[in-house]
Amino acid sequence: MDHLPIFLNVSGKRTLIVGNGVSAARKADLLLRAGSELTIVAPELGEELSQLAESYSFKHQATELTAGDLNGCVIVFGCDKDDSVNQNLRKLAHDVGIPVNVSDKTEDCDFIMPALVDRSPLLIAISSGGTSPLLVRMLKARFETTIPAAYGKLAEFAGSYRDRIKELVPNMTRRRRFWEVMVSGPVAEHLFSSQLEQAESLMESHLEEAALEGDQPPPGEVYLVGTGPGDPDLLTFRALRLMQQADVVLYDRLIGDGILNLVRRDARRVYVGKLKNNHTVPQEEISEMLIDLAKQGKRVLRLKGGDPFVFGRGGEEIEALSENGIAFQVVPGVTAANGCAAYAGIPLTHRDHAQACVFVTGHEKDGELNLNWDSLIQPRQTVVLYMGLTSLEAITRGFISHGADPKTPAAVVENGTRPGQRVITGTLDSLLDRTSQARVKSPALIIVGSVVSLRDKLSWFEN
Ligand code: SAH
Repeated sequence: MDHLPIFLNVSGKRTLIVGNGVSAARKADLLLRAGSELTIVAPELGEELSQLAESYSFKHQATELTAGDLNGCVIVFGCDKDDSVNQNLRKLAHDVGIPVNVSDKTEDCDFIMPALVDRSPLLIAISSGGTSPLLVRMLKARFETTIPAAYGKLAEFAGSYRDRIKELVPNMTRRRRFWEVMVSGPVAEHLFSSQLEQAESLMESHLEEAALEGDQPPPGEVYLVGTGPGDPDLLTFRALRLMQQADVVLYDRLIGDGILNLVRRDARRVYVGKLKNNHTVPQEEISEMLIDLAKQGKRVLRLKGGDPFVFGRGGEEIEALSENGIAFQVVPGVTAANGCAAYAGIPLTHRDHAQACVFVTGHEKDGELNLNWDSLIQPRQTVVLYMGLTSLEAITRGFISHGADPKTPAAVVENGTRPGQRVITGTLDSLLDRTSQARVKSPALIIVGSVVSLRDKLSWFEN
Protein backbone atom coordinates (compact mmCIF):
# COMPACT_ATOMS: atom_id res chain seq x y z
CA MET A 1 0.00 0.00 0.00
CA ASP A 2 1.60 3.27 -1.12
CA HIS A 3 -0.87 5.68 0.45
CA LEU A 4 -2.79 5.81 3.68
CA PRO A 5 -6.50 6.22 2.98
CA ILE A 6 -8.11 8.73 5.35
CA PHE A 7 -11.09 11.06 5.33
CA LEU A 8 -9.96 14.48 6.49
CA ASN A 9 -12.21 16.85 8.41
CA VAL A 10 -11.70 20.24 6.74
CA SER A 11 -14.93 21.77 7.97
CA GLY A 12 -14.26 25.33 9.18
CA LYS A 13 -10.56 24.89 8.44
CA ARG A 14 -8.44 26.84 5.99
CA THR A 15 -7.37 25.40 2.64
CA LEU A 16 -5.78 27.03 -0.37
CA ILE A 17 -5.59 26.45 -4.11
CA VAL A 18 -3.30 28.12 -6.62
CA GLY A 19 -4.71 28.11 -10.16
CA ASN A 20 -8.03 28.91 -11.79
CA GLY A 21 -8.82 26.18 -14.31
CA VAL A 22 -11.01 23.08 -14.33
CA SER A 23 -8.76 21.15 -12.01
CA ALA A 24 -8.79 24.00 -9.46
CA ALA A 25 -12.58 24.20 -9.73
CA ARG A 26 -12.98 20.45 -9.14
CA LYS A 27 -10.88 20.55 -5.98
CA ALA A 28 -12.62 23.75 -4.86
CA ASP A 29 -16.01 22.13 -5.28
CA LEU A 30 -15.04 19.22 -3.03
CA LEU A 31 -13.42 21.43 -0.41
CA LEU A 32 -16.40 23.74 -0.27
CA ARG A 33 -18.86 20.88 -0.04
CA ALA A 34 -16.82 19.62 2.90
CA GLY A 35 -17.22 23.03 4.58
CA SER A 36 -13.69 24.34 4.25
CA GLU A 37 -12.69 28.02 4.34
CA LEU A 38 -11.09 28.20 0.94
CA THR A 39 -8.76 30.72 -0.65
CA ILE A 40 -8.11 30.70 -4.39
CA VAL A 41 -4.88 32.37 -5.43
CA ALA A 42 -5.02 33.35 -9.12
CA PRO A 43 -4.99 36.59 -11.15
CA GLU A 44 -8.68 36.04 -11.99
CA LEU A 45 -11.26 33.28 -11.62
CA GLY A 46 -11.85 30.96 -14.54
CA GLU A 47 -15.33 30.15 -15.84
CA GLU A 48 -15.91 27.09 -13.62
CA LEU A 49 -14.71 28.86 -10.48
CA SER A 50 -16.90 31.86 -11.23
CA GLN A 51 -19.86 29.52 -11.49
CA LEU A 52 -18.94 27.96 -8.18
CA ALA A 53 -18.84 31.42 -6.60
CA GLU A 54 -22.57 31.69 -7.28
CA SER A 55 -23.34 28.84 -4.86
CA TYR A 56 -20.51 29.03 -2.35
CA SER A 57 -18.45 31.74 -0.76
CA PHE A 58 -14.68 31.59 -0.80
CA LYS A 59 -11.88 34.12 -0.84
CA HIS A 60 -10.27 35.11 -4.11
CA GLN A 61 -6.79 36.56 -3.88
CA ALA A 62 -5.43 38.10 -7.06
CA THR A 63 -2.06 39.05 -5.62
CA GLU A 64 0.88 36.68 -5.68
CA LEU A 65 1.25 33.94 -3.12
CA THR A 66 3.33 34.70 -0.05
CA ALA A 67 4.34 32.47 2.86
CA GLY A 68 1.85 34.22 5.14
CA ASP A 69 -1.07 33.03 2.95
CA LEU A 70 -0.49 29.52 4.17
CA ASN A 71 -1.06 30.36 7.83
CA GLY A 72 -3.51 27.95 9.38
CA CYS A 73 -3.99 25.87 6.21
CA VAL A 74 -4.45 22.10 6.72
CA ILE A 75 -3.83 21.15 3.09
CA VAL A 76 -3.04 23.05 -0.12
CA PHE A 77 -3.37 22.37 -3.85
CA GLY A 78 -1.19 23.34 -6.77
CA CYS A 79 -3.47 23.48 -9.82
CA ASP A 80 -1.83 26.26 -11.82
CA LYS A 81 -1.02 25.60 -15.48
CA ASP A 82 2.38 27.18 -14.80
CA ASP A 83 4.21 24.48 -12.87
CA SER A 84 6.66 26.97 -11.32
CA VAL A 85 3.70 28.45 -9.41
CA ASN A 86 2.85 24.98 -8.09
CA GLN A 87 6.47 24.30 -7.17
CA ASN A 88 6.66 27.61 -5.32
CA LEU A 89 3.55 26.64 -3.33
CA ARG A 90 5.05 23.23 -2.65
CA LYS A 91 8.24 24.75 -1.28
CA LEU A 92 6.44 27.25 0.94
CA ALA A 93 4.10 24.53 2.25
CA HIS A 94 6.95 22.14 2.97
CA ASP A 95 8.78 24.86 4.90
CA VAL A 96 5.93 24.81 7.39
CA GLY A 97 4.96 21.12 7.08
CA ILE A 98 1.64 21.46 5.22
CA PRO A 99 0.75 18.55 2.89
CA VAL A 100 0.54 19.51 -0.80
CA ASN A 101 -1.27 18.04 -3.79
CA VAL A 102 -0.03 18.97 -7.25
CA SER A 103 -2.44 18.22 -10.09
CA ASP A 104 -1.40 15.39 -12.41
CA LYS A 105 2.00 14.98 -10.73
CA THR A 106 1.71 12.07 -8.32
CA GLU A 107 5.43 12.25 -7.60
CA ASP A 108 5.02 15.82 -6.24
CA CYS A 109 2.03 14.94 -4.06
CA ASP A 110 2.05 14.37 -0.32
CA PHE A 111 -1.50 13.11 -0.71
CA ILE A 112 -3.56 12.20 -3.73
CA MET A 113 -7.24 12.71 -4.42
CA PRO A 114 -9.30 9.53 -4.86
CA ALA A 115 -12.21 9.07 -7.23
CA LEU A 116 -15.45 9.35 -5.29
CA VAL A 117 -18.75 7.57 -5.21
CA ASP A 118 -20.80 10.05 -3.24
CA ARG A 119 -23.78 8.80 -1.28
CA SER A 120 -23.22 11.33 1.50
CA PRO A 121 -22.81 10.77 4.31
CA LEU A 122 -21.62 7.48 2.81
CA LEU A 123 -18.50 7.92 0.69
CA ILE A 124 -16.52 5.41 -1.31
CA ALA A 125 -13.04 6.57 -2.27
CA ILE A 126 -11.13 4.70 -4.98
CA SER A 127 -7.49 5.07 -5.91
CA SER A 128 -4.94 3.19 -7.95
CA GLY A 129 -2.13 5.32 -6.55
CA GLY A 130 -1.90 7.01 -9.95
CA THR A 131 -1.11 3.77 -11.78
CA SER A 132 -4.35 3.16 -13.65
CA PRO A 133 -6.95 5.93 -13.89
CA LEU A 134 -8.88 3.77 -16.38
CA LEU A 135 -9.32 0.97 -13.87
CA VAL A 136 -10.44 3.50 -11.27
CA ARG A 137 -13.02 4.91 -13.67
CA MET A 138 -14.33 1.42 -14.42
CA LEU A 139 -14.64 0.57 -10.74
CA LYS A 140 -16.31 3.86 -9.99
CA ALA A 141 -18.84 3.22 -12.75
CA ARG A 142 -19.52 -0.20 -11.33
CA PHE A 143 -20.15 1.17 -7.83
CA GLU A 144 -22.26 3.99 -9.18
CA THR A 145 -24.60 1.52 -10.84
CA THR A 146 -24.77 -1.06 -8.05
CA ILE A 147 -25.07 1.09 -4.92
CA PRO A 148 -28.56 2.55 -4.68
CA ALA A 149 -28.69 6.32 -4.27
CA ALA A 150 -30.77 5.71 -1.15
CA TYR A 151 -27.79 4.30 0.72
CA GLY A 152 -26.97 7.82 1.78
CA LYS A 153 -30.44 8.09 3.34
CA LEU A 154 -29.84 4.84 5.18
CA ALA A 155 -26.54 6.08 6.58
CA GLU A 156 -28.13 9.33 7.67
CA PHE A 157 -31.05 7.53 9.28
CA ALA A 158 -28.68 5.18 11.14
CA GLY A 159 -26.62 8.15 12.29
CA SER A 160 -29.69 9.82 13.83
CA TYR A 161 -30.32 6.76 16.04
CA ARG A 162 -26.72 6.12 16.98
CA ASP A 163 -26.60 7.72 20.42
CA ARG A 164 -29.94 6.30 21.52
CA ILE A 165 -28.97 2.79 20.55
CA LYS A 166 -25.59 3.09 22.21
CA GLU A 167 -27.36 3.91 25.44
CA LEU A 168 -30.05 1.30 25.05
CA VAL A 169 -27.75 -1.54 24.00
CA PRO A 170 -24.40 -1.08 25.75
CA ASN A 171 -23.14 -4.55 24.79
CA MET A 172 -21.09 -4.02 21.64
CA THR A 173 -21.67 -7.41 20.06
CA ARG A 174 -25.40 -7.17 20.60
CA ARG A 175 -25.38 -3.64 19.21
CA ARG A 176 -23.58 -4.72 16.07
CA ARG A 177 -26.12 -7.47 15.49
CA PHE A 178 -28.89 -4.93 15.93
CA TRP A 179 -27.39 -2.76 13.19
CA GLU A 180 -26.85 -5.71 10.88
CA VAL A 181 -30.54 -6.53 11.03
CA MET A 182 -31.45 -2.86 10.54
CA VAL A 183 -29.36 -2.20 7.46
CA SER A 184 -30.31 -5.36 5.62
CA GLY A 185 -33.95 -5.76 6.72
CA PRO A 186 -37.36 -4.11 6.28
CA VAL A 187 -36.29 -0.81 7.89
CA ALA A 188 -33.79 -0.31 5.09
CA GLU A 189 -36.35 -1.38 2.50
CA HIS A 190 -38.78 1.30 3.74
CA LEU A 191 -36.07 3.91 3.46
CA PHE A 192 -35.10 2.81 -0.03
CA SER A 193 -38.69 3.35 -1.11
CA SER A 194 -38.89 6.73 0.67
CA GLN A 195 -41.31 5.51 3.36
CA LEU A 196 -39.68 7.38 6.18
CA GLU A 197 -42.62 7.17 8.60
CA GLN A 198 -42.87 3.40 8.27
CA ALA A 199 -39.13 3.08 8.76
CA GLU A 200 -39.30 5.18 11.90
CA SER A 201 -42.20 3.33 13.46
CA LEU A 202 -40.58 -0.05 12.71
CA MET A 203 -37.37 1.24 14.22
CA GLU A 204 -39.23 2.27 17.39
CA SER A 205 -40.63 -1.24 17.81
CA HIS A 206 -37.16 -2.74 17.28
CA LEU A 207 -35.83 -0.39 19.93
CA GLU A 208 -38.50 -1.50 22.39
CA GLU A 209 -37.57 -5.12 21.75
CA ALA A 210 -33.88 -4.37 22.18
CA ALA A 211 -34.62 -2.67 25.50
CA LEU A 212 -36.51 -5.77 26.68
CA GLU A 213 -33.73 -8.15 25.69
CA GLY A 214 -31.41 -6.67 28.29
CA ASP A 215 -27.68 -6.49 27.87
CA GLN A 216 -26.54 -10.10 28.02
CA PRO A 217 -24.17 -10.98 25.18
CA PRO A 218 -26.11 -12.75 22.42
CA PRO A 219 -25.49 -16.47 21.99
CA GLY A 220 -22.30 -17.22 20.09
CA GLU A 221 -21.88 -19.50 17.13
CA VAL A 222 -19.10 -21.25 15.24
CA TYR A 223 -18.79 -21.24 11.45
CA LEU A 224 -16.63 -24.06 10.19
CA VAL A 225 -15.80 -22.81 6.72
CA GLY A 226 -13.91 -24.48 3.90
CA THR A 227 -12.00 -21.91 1.83
CA GLY A 228 -10.91 -24.10 -1.07
CA PRO A 229 -7.27 -24.70 -2.00
CA GLY A 230 -6.12 -21.09 -2.23
CA ASP A 231 -7.58 -19.11 -5.13
CA PRO A 232 -10.01 -16.70 -3.39
CA ASP A 233 -12.32 -16.94 -6.42
CA LEU A 234 -13.15 -20.48 -5.34
CA LEU A 235 -14.84 -19.36 -2.12
CA THR A 236 -18.57 -19.98 -1.90
CA PHE A 237 -21.02 -17.11 -1.43
CA ARG A 238 -21.93 -18.50 1.96
CA ALA A 239 -18.31 -18.66 3.05
CA LEU A 240 -17.85 -15.03 2.07
CA ARG A 241 -21.01 -13.94 3.88
CA LEU A 242 -19.95 -15.63 7.12
CA MET A 243 -16.41 -14.30 6.76
CA GLN A 244 -17.89 -10.81 6.70
CA GLN A 245 -19.85 -11.42 9.90
CA ALA A 246 -17.26 -13.01 12.15
CA ASP A 247 -16.00 -11.48 15.38
CA VAL A 248 -12.96 -13.77 15.64
CA VAL A 249 -11.20 -15.92 13.06
CA LEU A 250 -9.04 -18.98 13.76
CA TYR A 251 -6.92 -19.93 10.76
CA ASP A 252 -3.92 -22.03 9.93
CA ARG A 253 -1.06 -22.32 7.49
CA LEU A 254 -3.01 -23.24 4.38
CA ILE A 255 -5.09 -20.06 4.45
CA GLY A 256 -3.43 -17.51 2.18
CA ASP A 257 -3.51 -13.72 2.53
CA GLY A 258 -5.84 -13.38 -0.45
CA ILE A 259 -8.51 -15.17 1.54
CA LEU A 260 -7.71 -13.73 4.95
CA ASN A 261 -8.06 -10.23 3.52
CA LEU A 262 -11.73 -10.97 2.83
CA VAL A 263 -12.51 -11.55 6.51
CA ARG A 264 -14.21 -8.62 8.25
CA ARG A 265 -11.50 -6.08 8.94
CA ASP A 266 -12.31 -5.69 12.63
CA ALA A 267 -12.39 -9.42 13.35
CA ARG A 268 -9.67 -10.62 15.71
CA ARG A 269 -7.27 -12.96 13.91
CA VAL A 270 -5.87 -15.96 15.76
CA TYR A 271 -3.24 -18.09 14.05
CA VAL A 272 -3.45 -21.71 15.14
CA GLY A 273 -1.16 -23.28 12.54
CA LYS A 274 2.43 -24.39 12.86
CA LEU A 275 4.46 -22.00 14.98
CA LYS A 276 8.11 -21.03 14.45
CA ASN A 277 9.36 -23.89 16.59
CA ASN A 278 7.24 -26.17 14.41
CA HIS A 279 4.77 -26.98 17.17
CA THR A 280 1.15 -26.98 16.14
CA VAL A 281 -1.57 -25.85 18.50
CA PRO A 282 -3.03 -29.20 19.68
CA GLN A 283 -6.47 -30.06 18.35
CA GLU A 284 -8.02 -30.10 21.84
CA GLU A 285 -6.77 -26.60 22.47
CA ILE A 286 -8.33 -25.36 19.23
CA SER A 287 -11.64 -26.99 20.13
CA GLU A 288 -11.49 -25.43 23.60
CA MET A 289 -10.80 -22.01 22.11
CA LEU A 290 -13.81 -22.35 19.80
CA ILE A 291 -16.03 -23.29 22.73
CA ASP A 292 -14.77 -20.49 25.00
CA LEU A 293 -15.15 -17.81 22.36
CA ALA A 294 -18.65 -18.96 21.40
CA LYS A 295 -19.64 -18.95 25.07
CA GLN A 296 -18.56 -15.30 25.25
CA GLY A 297 -21.16 -14.61 22.55
CA LYS A 298 -18.69 -14.33 19.69
CA ARG A 299 -19.31 -15.40 16.14
CA VAL A 300 -16.29 -17.54 15.59
CA LEU A 301 -15.02 -18.28 12.12
CA ARG A 302 -12.93 -21.42 11.84
CA LEU A 303 -11.29 -21.32 8.43
CA LYS A 304 -10.10 -24.56 6.90
CA GLY A 305 -8.15 -25.04 3.69
CA GLY A 306 -10.10 -27.00 1.07
CA ASP A 307 -13.13 -28.73 2.54
CA PRO A 308 -13.47 -29.00 6.34
CA PHE A 309 -14.59 -32.61 6.17
CA VAL A 310 -11.83 -33.86 3.88
CA PHE A 311 -8.70 -34.59 5.92
CA GLY A 312 -9.47 -31.42 7.81
CA ARG A 313 -10.35 -32.69 11.29
CA GLY A 314 -13.51 -30.62 10.97
CA GLY A 315 -15.53 -33.54 12.30
CA GLU A 316 -13.58 -33.56 15.56
CA GLU A 317 -14.00 -29.84 16.07
CA ILE A 318 -17.75 -29.84 15.70
CA GLU A 319 -18.08 -32.98 17.82
CA ALA A 320 -16.65 -30.99 20.71
CA LEU A 321 -18.99 -28.09 19.90
CA SER A 322 -22.02 -30.32 19.80
CA GLU A 323 -21.10 -31.89 23.16
CA ASN A 324 -20.99 -28.39 24.64
CA GLY A 325 -24.27 -27.26 23.13
CA ILE A 326 -22.66 -24.64 20.88
CA ALA A 327 -24.50 -23.76 17.67
CA PHE A 328 -22.48 -24.25 14.50
CA GLN A 329 -22.68 -24.24 10.71
CA VAL A 330 -20.46 -26.09 8.27
CA VAL A 331 -19.68 -24.62 4.86
CA PRO A 332 -18.17 -26.98 2.31
CA GLY A 333 -15.20 -25.87 0.25
CA VAL A 334 -13.54 -27.03 -2.96
CA THR A 335 -11.23 -29.76 -1.75
CA ALA A 336 -7.59 -29.74 -2.90
CA ALA A 337 -8.18 -32.77 -5.15
CA ASN A 338 -10.90 -30.96 -7.11
CA GLY A 339 -9.11 -27.62 -7.20
CA CYS A 340 -5.70 -29.01 -8.17
CA ALA A 341 -7.17 -31.37 -10.75
CA ALA A 342 -9.13 -28.60 -12.44
CA TYR A 343 -6.27 -26.09 -12.46
CA ALA A 344 -3.78 -28.73 -13.61
CA GLY A 345 -5.98 -29.94 -16.47
CA ILE A 346 -6.28 -33.48 -15.06
CA PRO A 347 -9.90 -34.73 -14.99
CA LEU A 348 -10.26 -37.07 -12.01
CA THR A 349 -12.61 -39.32 -13.96
CA HIS A 350 -12.90 -39.76 -17.71
CA ARG A 351 -14.83 -42.22 -19.85
CA ASP A 352 -11.67 -43.56 -21.47
CA HIS A 353 -9.46 -43.60 -18.38
CA ALA A 354 -11.08 -43.83 -14.96
CA GLN A 355 -14.56 -44.57 -13.63
CA ALA A 356 -13.56 -44.23 -10.00
CA CYS A 357 -11.48 -41.91 -7.90
CA VAL A 358 -10.29 -42.34 -4.33
CA PHE A 359 -8.88 -39.77 -1.93
CA VAL A 360 -6.40 -41.07 0.65
CA THR A 361 -3.87 -39.56 2.98
CA GLY A 362 -0.23 -40.33 2.29
CA HIS A 363 0.76 -39.23 5.76
CA GLU A 364 2.98 -41.74 7.54
CA LYS A 365 1.91 -42.73 11.02
CA ASP A 366 4.78 -44.10 13.16
CA GLY A 367 6.88 -44.47 9.97
CA GLU A 368 4.19 -46.63 8.32
CA LEU A 369 2.13 -45.75 5.26
CA ASN A 370 -0.88 -47.78 6.31
CA LEU A 371 -2.52 -47.89 2.86
CA ASN A 372 -4.75 -50.59 1.47
CA TRP A 373 -2.68 -51.15 -1.69
CA ASP A 374 -5.01 -53.73 -3.21
CA SER A 375 -7.91 -51.31 -3.16
CA LEU A 376 -5.73 -48.52 -4.56
CA ILE A 377 -4.22 -50.49 -7.42
CA GLN A 378 -7.36 -51.06 -9.45
CA PRO A 379 -7.83 -50.68 -13.18
CA ARG A 380 -9.55 -47.51 -14.39
CA GLN A 381 -9.21 -45.74 -11.06
CA THR A 382 -7.55 -42.44 -10.10
CA VAL A 383 -5.86 -42.18 -6.73
CA VAL A 384 -5.35 -38.79 -5.08
CA LEU A 385 -2.98 -38.62 -2.12
CA TYR A 386 -3.14 -35.73 0.33
CA MET A 387 -0.21 -34.94 2.65
CA GLY A 388 2.01 -37.30 0.70
CA LEU A 389 4.98 -35.16 -0.32
CA THR A 390 7.38 -36.29 2.41
CA SER A 391 6.37 -39.92 1.84
CA LEU A 392 6.54 -39.72 -1.95
CA GLU A 393 9.33 -42.29 -2.10
CA ALA A 394 7.42 -44.81 0.02
CA ILE A 395 4.26 -44.11 -1.98
CA THR A 396 5.73 -44.66 -5.46
CA ARG A 397 7.71 -47.68 -4.22
CA GLY A 398 4.58 -49.08 -2.55
CA PHE A 399 2.51 -48.80 -5.74
CA ILE A 400 5.17 -50.58 -7.81
CA SER A 401 6.00 -53.30 -5.29
CA HIS A 402 2.30 -54.09 -4.91
CA GLY A 403 1.92 -54.66 -8.62
CA ALA A 404 1.18 -51.32 -10.26
CA ASP A 405 2.70 -50.72 -13.70
CA PRO A 406 5.83 -48.53 -13.11
CA LYS A 407 4.82 -46.59 -16.24
CA THR A 408 1.47 -45.50 -14.71
CA PRO A 409 1.23 -41.71 -15.21
CA ALA A 410 1.47 -39.70 -12.00
CA ALA A 411 1.68 -36.02 -11.04
CA VAL A 412 2.51 -33.76 -8.14
CA VAL A 413 0.63 -30.45 -7.97
CA GLU A 414 2.38 -27.86 -5.83
CA ASN A 415 0.49 -24.78 -4.65
CA GLY A 416 -2.56 -25.79 -6.66
CA THR A 417 -4.88 -22.97 -7.85
CA ARG A 418 -2.46 -20.34 -6.51
CA PRO A 419 -0.22 -17.94 -8.43
CA GLY A 420 2.83 -20.15 -7.85
CA GLN A 421 1.19 -23.40 -9.02
CA ARG A 422 3.56 -26.00 -10.49
CA VAL A 423 2.65 -29.38 -11.91
CA ILE A 424 5.31 -32.08 -12.14
CA THR A 425 4.27 -35.04 -14.27
CA GLY A 426 5.95 -38.38 -14.88
CA THR A 427 5.33 -42.03 -14.18
CA LEU A 428 5.45 -43.97 -10.94
CA ASP A 429 9.13 -44.79 -11.55
CA SER A 430 10.21 -41.26 -12.50
CA LEU A 431 8.04 -38.96 -10.35
CA LEU A 432 10.26 -39.01 -7.27
CA ASP A 433 13.39 -37.87 -9.16
CA ARG A 434 11.53 -35.17 -11.03
CA THR A 435 9.89 -33.90 -7.88
CA SER A 436 13.13 -33.68 -5.93
CA GLN A 437 14.90 -32.02 -8.86
CA ALA A 438 12.16 -29.40 -8.96
CA ARG A 439 12.47 -28.96 -5.17
CA VAL A 440 8.73 -29.17 -4.72
CA LYS A 441 7.44 -27.84 -1.43
CA SER A 442 4.26 -28.22 0.58
CA PRO A 443 1.33 -27.93 0.01
CA ALA A 444 1.43 -30.55 -2.70
CA LEU A 445 -1.02 -33.14 -3.91
CA ILE A 446 -0.22 -36.41 -5.68
CA ILE A 447 -2.41 -37.78 -8.46
CA VAL A 448 -1.84 -41.31 -9.79
CA GLY A 449 -3.64 -42.75 -12.82
CA SER A 450 -3.78 -42.60 -16.59
CA VAL A 451 -5.92 -39.42 -16.42
CA VAL A 452 -2.64 -37.58 -15.75
CA SER A 453 -1.70 -38.10 -19.41
CA LEU A 454 -4.61 -35.84 -20.42
CA ARG A 455 -2.84 -32.82 -18.99
CA ASP A 456 -0.81 -32.33 -22.17
CA LYS A 457 -4.04 -31.52 -23.99
CA LEU A 458 -6.13 -29.97 -21.22
CA SER A 459 -3.76 -27.73 -19.33
CA TRP A 460 -5.02 -24.12 -19.25
CA PHE A 461 -3.98 -22.34 -16.04
CA GLU A 462 -0.90 -20.20 -16.46
CA ASN A 463 0.65 -18.16 -13.72
N1 SAH B 1 -9.12 -30.05 4.02
C1 SAH B 1 -8.13 -29.90 2.97
C2 SAH B 1 -6.99 -30.86 3.11
C3 SAH B 1 -6.16 -30.64 4.33
S1 SAH B 1 -4.82 -31.74 4.42
C4 SAH B 1 -8.82 -30.08 1.61
O1 SAH B 1 -9.98 -30.46 1.55
O2 SAH B 1 -8.18 -29.78 0.62
C5 SAH B 1 -3.52 -30.79 3.73
C6 SAH B 1 -3.10 -31.35 2.40
O3 SAH B 1 -3.98 -30.92 1.39
C7 SAH B 1 -1.74 -30.86 1.94
O4 SAH B 1 -0.72 -31.63 2.52
C8 SAH B 1 -1.83 -31.09 0.45
O5 SAH B 1 -1.65 -32.46 0.14
C9 SAH B 1 -3.28 -30.78 0.16
N2 SAH B 1 -3.45 -29.38 -0.29
C10 SAH B 1 -4.17 -28.43 0.29
N3 SAH B 1 -4.12 -27.29 -0.44
C11 SAH B 1 -3.34 -27.55 -1.50
C12 SAH B 1 -2.91 -26.79 -2.62
N4 SAH B 1 -3.28 -25.51 -2.79
N5 SAH B 1 -2.12 -27.39 -3.53
C13 SAH B 1 -1.74 -28.67 -3.39
N6 SAH B 1 -2.12 -29.42 -2.34
C14 SAH B 1 -2.91 -28.89 -1.42
